Amino acid sequence: MTPSPATTVASAGDNAVDWSRVRADFPLLRREVNGKPLIYFDSANTGQKPTSVIEAVDDFYRRHNANVSRAVHTLGGEATELYENARRKLARFIHVRPDDLVLCSGTTFAINLVAYSWALPRLQGGDAILLTRMEHHANIVPWQLVAQRTGARIEVVELLPDGSLDMDMLRAKMTADVKLLAIAHVSNVLGTVNPVRGICHEARRRGIVTVVDGSQALPHRPVDVAAIGCDFYALTGHKMCGPTGTGALWARREHLEAMPPFIGGGEMIREVRFDGTVFNDAPRKFEAGTPNIAGFAGLGAAVDYLDALGMANVEAREQELLAHLNEELARVEGLRIYGTAKGKAAVVSFLVEGAHAHDLATLLDIEGVAIRSGQHCAHPLLQWFGIGATCRASLAFYNTHEEIEAFVAALRKVRGLLA
Ligand code: PLP
Repeated sequence: MTPSPATTVASAGDNAVDWSRVRADFPLLRREVNGKPLIYFDSANTGQKPTSVIEAVDDFYRRHNANVSRAVHTLGGEATELYENARRKLARFIHVRPDDLVLCSGTTFAINLVAYSWALPRLQGGDAILLTRMEHHANIVPWQLVAQRTGARIEVVELLPDGSLDMDMLRAKMTADVKLLAIAHVSNVLGTVNPVRGICHEARRRGIVTVVDGSQALPHRPVDVAAIGCDFYALTGHKMCGPTGTGALWARREHLEAMPPFIGGGEMIREVRFDGTVFNDAPRKFEAGTPNIAGFAGLGAAVDYLDALGMANVEAREQELLAHLNEELARVEGLRIYGTAKGKAAVVSFLVEGAHAHDLATLLDIEGVAIRSGQHCAHPLLQWFGIGATCRASLAFYNTHEEIEAFVAALRKVRGLLA
């Protein structure tokens, strides 16, 4: 079988990455929008894809398309190999065992799997689920559904003014009735990086099960899930250079074995009889139906790509871009940034006095700039700030210093139009 296309990454290591060559790996970044060169500052929403990922998906459909784990023919074996290879690569990338990694459509599915298979059968009235103010709706709503059905209540840990977690409140709220703590590794609005390692170890000491939402961490920094010491880690492929509809849930083996399947169907069974079905072993008992095989072929290529770049290099590059962006934005009069915690990731939410976020984003689009405006799937967080919307510029390693300057120039220009 043909191996998936080789990565096109320039030699990495020692922070000696040729970032202009890296950028050339992303064909979409060469396009124009409204007659202007595209400036894509919306990577927290979804990331752009390098050629190697696009080719891996294309190659799957052109040469290997078949279903997984069913057919004995050659194509069936190739498809299964590509799918399982993605599981192995992803597992190595986050330092866990492939057999403890459930492949699924993304973080939303992963968190719902924990909610329905772990929490629903275990929680009851009198129990508490601990969340933080900065969670994405994907890490709020599933827990509300569990709370409604079980009678458990939701407790919320609030923030400090800089958008970091109130650690004193967190410790105080880790009471004996708390059964589960669900927390973002990195906030998709504020860029705050939560000290999940310390938090998960503390929670474990108190018998609290932890769910970490890694959606915004994995694409931007080295992540060692085993070292974090959580019980569950959810991730999404499309924010880390992979195709949409790919993701995974890592779980401690003891949970995977104890949890019942979430969705029933083909692939997740060993034997089906009308008087009872024997399920497959985890992780396959959670993977009912035909998966997004082409997507996982692409995600395998995405992991290869990021691995070749080196996540420490990616993090350093993005920190450098963030410092530049902050410096430029500090000179824009009337601009306020939401989320200024130390060590934050390259996500900048802001408002400019006298201009509505949606108006700014719409006018910036005319200038070729893609940023997000709105509530970023984090209504409770914006309620806490007492605002209805923000603009959010989120960077990735493929962005450039020139783009930052052009973005801030465009921001000044459109702000002038609104004044
Ligand atoms: N959690 C966070 C912090 C996110 O930023 C996102 C996506 O924006 C999600 C969860 C949901 O990810 P997905 O829609 O890929 O399942």
